[in-house]
Amino acid sequence: MRQKIIAGNWKMNQTLEITHDFITELSEKINQKEKSKQIIIAPPYPFLERAVHWSKGKGIDIAAQNMHQCDKGAYTGEVSADMLYSTGVNAVILGHSERREHFGENDEILMQKVVQALENNLQVIFCTGESFEQRKTGKHFETVQTQIEKALFALQAHEIEKIVLAYEPIWAIGTGESATSGQAQEMHAYIRGNLSERYGKAGAEKIRILYGGSLKPDNAKEFLFQKDIDGGLIGGASLKVVDFLKIIESC
Ligand code: PEP
Repeated sequence: MRQKIIAGNWKMNQTLEITHDFITELSEKINQKEKSKQIIIAPPYPFLERAVHWSKGKGIDIAAQNMHQCDKGAYTGEVSADMLYSTGVNAVILGHSERREHFGENDEILMQKVVQALENNLQVIFCTGESFEQRKTGKHFETVQTQIEKALFALQAHEIEKIVLAYEPIWAIGTGESATSGQAQEMHAYIRGNLSERYGKAGAEKIRILYGGSLKPDNAKEFLFQKDIDGGLIGGASLKVVDFLKIIESC
């Protein structure tokens, strides 16, 4: 049985004060049952170290939304995996479509980032997903397969087990229009099939695959009970405790 993950990607939102109040309120409200799930929030960089401090021992893990692929050097404005780990951050989101689109992150860079993150003991949430055009023209499976193969398939079996995948169709992110649960399950099963071909069935069965794309309190259950959907990566609906908690409670 794979442990479910509910992860909130705050993007460039919230303040330090809101981060404090969010963690305090969420940790008061998550009960024993919720503690069997892995709950992650990904605040912006400046809040990470405090967020780690406030969430310690409260059943909430803290992730970064990005990191650089090199370990150090003349990269003004960038942050390394080692720096994140030293602040107590547990995880990092890599390959989000907004990073691929606005910041030119390609499969080669992502492969380097994944290696750096693993070397520094960070859990990786690796995002993959197709554009609307690619889905319309039937290229969605091929697109996702290529992204996964290029960035992840050089990893050894013991390394891939530390990766969490997040299938996020780009056309469903922040648009209010989610994929259907059937479309999501179909893609998740396809991804697991690919993992199985590369790492064997037993290995593939251990890997968690999250769905992301306009997941909300009122549609979460439908997604989170699909056979190959092991949780959610949530943007907009992770900004308010009330919404995020409802999603946590629905799996
Ligand atoms: C995301 O950005 O990862 C995401 C899934 O956003 P939203 O839930 O707002 O669609």
